[in-house]
This record gives sequence, structure tokens and C-alpha cells, in this order.
Amino acid sequence: MAVDVTAEGTDKLFTYLVPRSLAGRLTPGQWVRVPFGGRRLVGLYVGPAERPPEGVALKEIAGLLPDIPPIPAPLVQLARWTADRYLSTFPAALRLLLPTEARRQEVRTLTITNYRLNVDDVEALVSELRRRAPRQAELLAYMARVGGEAERAQVLADLGESIAGPIRVALEKGWLTAGRVARRRDPFADEHVEPAPPPVLTPEQEQALASIRQELIAPPAFRQPVLVHGVTGSGKTELYLRAIALVREMGKNAICLVPEISLTPQMIQRFRARFGGDVAVLHSALSAGERFDEWQRIRRGEVSIVVGARSAVFAPFENVGLIIIDEEHEQSYKQEAPPPAYHAREVAAERARLEGALLVLGSATPALESFHLAQTGVYRLVSLGHRIDNRPLPPVTLVDMREELRAGNRSIFSRALVEALDQTLSAREQAILFLNRRGYNTFIMCRSCGEAIQCVHCAVALTYHLGDDHLACHYCGYTAPVPLVCPSCGSDKIRHLGAGTERVEQELQRLYPHVRVARMDVDTTRRKGAHAAILKRFADHEVDVLVGTQMITKGLDFPGVTLVGVVLADTSLNLPDFRAAERTFQLVTQVAGRAGRGDRPGRVIVQTYQPDHAALQAAAEHDYHRFFAEEIRFRQELDYPPFAHMIHLVISGEDEAAVAATAQNVHRVLAEGGFGGQILGPAPAPLAKLRGKYRYHLVLKGPDVRAMAAEVKACFAAARGKWRASRSVSLSVDVDPVSI
Ligand code: ADP
Ligand code: ZN
Ligand code: ZN
Repeated sequence: MAVDVTAEGTDKLFTYLVPRSLAGRLTPGQWVRVPFGGRRLVGLYVGPAERPPEGVALKEIAGLLPDIPPIPAPLVQLARWTADRYLSTFPAALRLLLPTEARRQEVRTLTITNYRLNVDDVEALVSELRRRAPRQAELLAYMARVGGEAERAQVLADLGESIAGPIRVALEKGWLTAGRVARRRDPFADEHVEPAPPPVLTPEQEQALASIRQELIAPPAFRQPVLVHGVTGSGKTELYLRAIALVREMGKNAICLVPEISLTPQMIQRFRARFGGDVAVLHSALSAGERFDEWQRIRRGEVSIVVGARSAVFAPFENVGLIIIDEEHEQSYKQEAPPPAYHAREVAAERARLEGALLVLGSATPALESFHLAQTGVYRLVSLGHRIDNRPLPPVTLVDMREELRAGNRSIFSRALVEALDQTLSAREQAILFLNRRGYNTFIMCRSCGEAIQCVHCAVALTYHLGDDHLACHYCGYTAPVPLVCPSCGSDKIRHLGAGTERVEQELQRLYPHVRVARMDVDTTRRKGAHAAILKRFADHEVDVLVGTQMITKGLDFPGVTLVGVVLADTSLNLPDFRAAERTFQLVTQVAGRAGRGDRPGRVIVQTYQPDHAALQAAAEHDYHRFFAEEIRFRQELDYPPFAHMIHLVISGEDEAAVAATAQNVHRVLAEGGFGGQILGPAPAPLAKLRGKYRYHLVLKGPDVRAMAAEVKACFAAARGKWRASRSVSLSVDVDPVSI
């Protein structure tokens, strides 16, 4: 029999013969050793070959690899689905199933030496030795006291390094035997968490849990994914914990995905306080050894819960009963690179379908796509409309920065924000100032009327290109010169604007020299642990004002915060992306959710040049439904998701002419190859030059993503590589991109 194997370091499947010794012993997901061009590589067996290649002498599989446990077969199937859906190779998708270091056999199980006592009558022996060899006696008495077994390092620590000699003697005499035991590298080794009993659920939570229970026990064919729409602080996390407890009682496993897990230590603590050692974590801040050991614990079924970032959707559980995605609208669930550029929400839905598990999505600001699915009856909608203890949602004030300008205030802080800061700080309360860094300095806006200059075709903000000083739409390629006066009001106060977190920090210190300010952005959190350290200082009230970027919008629960300020909402409103309004609504709602979580009420101040913008108005009213109604109309009118799907193709390389020519070729290959959807571009990408490489892109649009993906694949296959103007040009594909 011939089988397909994917080998480390290649992007193709290879076919091997199964030796007689392995006949009947291979199942998809098993790790094998294969001969490969004179070397031996680690391969993954994926299944029988559909059609063995002709005219090639096939080699035999050399053997099984017993050290790495096999991948569960449904995950191999999930990888195949992922490759098809996101237009990557199958081997690239398979790589998601095992930590890189483990696949390369760079990490192994850590083992340590331990000793076991081998004496029937210890007391007799100890008293016999006491005179003649006191240290020997001490060692044996110690071993008896600790229960007959101890790790070498522990013995040396307790009895001193000089005990090494007596140990040697005891081993020779046969009183002790040495062995090696596996030692888990525990990410929580020095973090003790007190167990916390569950609180009594609120009636709303009770009802939500009942809905989840219904879906859990429903026959898989009738099981509906659940979308939990709950305002910030409404007790969603508690609901997840209860749902997980239910699945555990059913004898099944649960996966809970959280955005950027290294940023949410509070969340993990709550899981551990509830479920103790039954929780594994998977995220990028673990060491390779920790990640490998956590993976092994999951694989061996030693835990029934995993909390993890995006990639944990591929956690090697068998028997998954529940997949939860917290803050399901978060962009971090989308992988950007390396391929496949998958979305964990989509993959989770497919995994749940394959394994008969329930998918639960939760958010205060569901992705438009998700809420649309709830509106059309695909998802079951569960709402938590109130905060725990009926704490009010904080009032949100929109401050018109045009007015500030007219009143002669040129500072980055409005008078209202300064007044609020005065009050908060003199009451010894805490504040968060938020600044959106993405999109900063890329758009041109009128400071008199607040209009940003948009593409006439695509209704997204035009991007300012510094080099040749013009504006361009990076969806359709439309370009325009930078106007001297505002096209809508004639003012000459037209320019790009923005201030970094550093400026905000300086300005604060200038205004309040004695106030303790901390800044949290990519620059201040590069060091491992820096992020947690800043949050701890803020939690301990060693810091009065926290200034930060997106990082501070998520999941933080600081009861002392009573004021949240958004320094400039426009940087987000004018992102050159059709999701700009959605992102802004989510952002304002999420940062507002950080205010007033304790006993004292909170408030929120949002500074903007567009106070009439529908997304801001809805966010100020905490009105998701109003936002959704408005935004879904816009999406339908302009044929954007969820009414259409997109595929984003980026062509990049150091030689601009080759990149441009390749982009044209790609367009031709698709247009002439029978691609059925719309082709926008090619145009220079929003980041037209990145790390020395020129970037052009095309945006494909159509109603059926699977059909589009299949067509793109067929077009490229037919072109047989002839679309590339130079070998140095590369192409990346993003199906259903979350930002372009
Ligand atoms: P969300 O995830 O929706 O932001 P959380 O689950 O974090 O909400 O709940 C907000 C706060 O209320 C947390 O401090 C949590 O411990 C607490 N909480 C949640 N449910 C209850 C409950 N039923 N009774 C008392 N406190 C609760
Ligand atoms: Zn204007
Ligand atoms: Zn356009």
C-alpha cells in the first residue's frame, strides 16, 4: 500500500510504501520517519495515496516515531479543510497541529533523577549505621521520612551537597535505586491561586445557561451555535465557566479561546481558581518546554480544559464538547502570517461541526458577521443586558474638537477632558487615556468640519502617500491630489493629524506634574513580563493615569477606574478599511467598559471631529442594535461582508517594476482564466513599501467564498507559474481578510 506523508521543511505531500512491519498499524495523524534525499525526516502520515505517482520508485517508511503522540484523526481532517478554505497547502495547515519545536524534535519531555528507598527494615538499618556512618544513616532516615521516594535535587537541597558521597554508597549497596521521572515544566509553578467557589447566578445568567444547556444536549444535527451578546461586565466569563462545568460533567473536554492570552492574566486566574489543575494554557508567551508539556497534557487527556490564544483551536483534544470564543469580534483571532491565514472563529465552527461540539461566541460588540448570523437564525442569540449588581454603564460624552479649535484651544486635551481629569485625580480615583495608534498619520482630515477625504467609489478613507504627496484608494486604485481647501466646507485647516502615546504622556505630566503616569504600548511592553508589571502597578494604585493603545481596551477589570478618555476617535473612524465604523464602535464600547466597574460610577469622554458620526452616536448610547441596523445597510449597499466575501492578494518584492508587472499578470490570469467575481486593482497596497519591499495588491469580491477560492486555485494552476515576472516576487493570499 502507498501512503501520503508530509515531511518537515517541504510544502508538498510525498508518497511512500508501507513496509510489512507497519501493515495495519498506521492511522492518519501518526508521526513517521521517512528517507528523504539521503536524509531522514520526520513526517506525518495523512492517509492512503489517492493515486501513487507513476514512473517513480517509491521508498518505504522507515519507522514510527514513538516519542511524539499521534494527532487525533479529526484534526487531520480539520487541517485539510483549513488548507482548502484559506488557499494554503495542506502541509502548511498541518503545521498548526503541533508546536514547531516538538515537530523538529528540539524539545522533549524533561526528565530528572530520583531515588527510591529499597530497604525492608529501615529503622534497624539506620540504628545500625548511626555510629559507624552517621551521614549514611541520616540519608536513609530522610528517605523514609519523605515516603521512600525523592528527587535528587531535593535531597541535595535538604541534606547539603556533601550528601552526594553517601548517595553513591547507598546506590552501590542497593539501599537506594535511581530512576528518571518526567518533570512537567509548569507555567504556573510559582503562581498559587486560591480556589474560588462559584457565585449565585443572576436570573439573566441563569437563563443564558439554560439555553446553552439545551444546545449541549440537543442531537448534533439540531445543535445551534450560541452567540452571547452581553454588555461589558454582565458576567459572560462566569457563564463560560458554568458551561464548561456542564461539559465536564458530561465527560467531555472544552476549549476556550481568548484574545492575546498573554494580555489577560486575570482571565486565566479565574479559570484556575475554579478548575485548579484541570486547566492547560497554550499561548506564545510560554517557553518552548512549557508549551510542549502543556500540549502533551492535553494530548494525553490529563486535563479537560484548555484556555488559549487563536492557535488553541487546534488543541489536540479528543472528545471536544464545547468551544468558546471570548470577545469573538477581536481581530487577533485572524492569523496574518505564516499561511494559512485562518480565522479561529471559522475554524472553530468547522471543528465543532466535525466533532459534534457546541460553539459558543461571546462579545459586548459582536462582529457584524456574527450578529447577522444570529439575525438570520443560524446562531441562537442569548443576551445579557445588565451589568452585575445592576451597575450602570458609564455615560459617554462626545466632545466636538472643532468647537475646541474655534474657542482657541489647540491642545490635544479638550476643556471637558481636563475638567474631568481634575475631578478624578483630586478624588484620588484612576483614569485611562486611550489612543488608537493604527491609522495614525495616514489620512487627511478637515479640522473645521471634520470630513475625511474618501474614495468616491468605495466609501473608505483615502490613504495619504508621502512620497509623491497624493491620496489613493487602496481598494480600487483611484487617486487624487491632496486638496488645498476642504472639498465640503472650503476651510484651509486641512491636514493629517495625530499624536502618539508619548505626546499624551508628556502633556499629562506638564499639566499634572505630581500625578503618576504609566504608558502602555508596544515600546514599553517589549520585555517579557513588562505588560503584567504595568498592570499590577495600576491595580495596586501606584499609578494614577494609564495611557495606552489597543492593549488596554481588553478584559481589564480595575474597580478604581472612574474616567476613561478616548483622545481622538477619528484615527479609528478614518482607517482605510470598510470596517472602520465597526472598529470604532467596538473600540469605544470596549474602552468605556473599563470605567465604573467598582463601587463608584464611571464616565467616558470621547474626543472627535465627527461627533455626528452614527457609530460614535450609537456607542455613546451603548446601543449595539442601532449601530448594527445602520452598518448592515451600508454593507449591503456597497456589497461588503457579510453580503460578499473578499480575497486579498498581495504581491511583494524588492524590484518595483517586477512587482507591478506581476500584479498585472495576476489580474490577467484571473480575468482570462474565468474568475467569476469582481477584481479590484491592482493598486499599491496601503503600506506601499514595507521593510524594503514594494507591495501591490488586488481585492477579489464575490458572494461564494468556496467557489472563489476554487476558481483562484484553478486559474493559478492553469497559468503554471507564468504569472511571476521575476523569481524574487512573492504572492500572499488572504481569504476573508479582517483588515486590508
Ligand atoms: P464580562 O465577562 O461580561 O465582562 P465578568 O464575568 O467578568 O463579566 O463579570 C464581571 C464581574 O462580576 C466580575 O468581577 C465577576 O467576578 C462578577 N460576577 C459575575 N457573575 C456574578 C454573579 N452571578 N454574582 C456576583 N458576581 C458576579
Ligand atoms: Zn471642511
Ligand atoms: Zn476606491
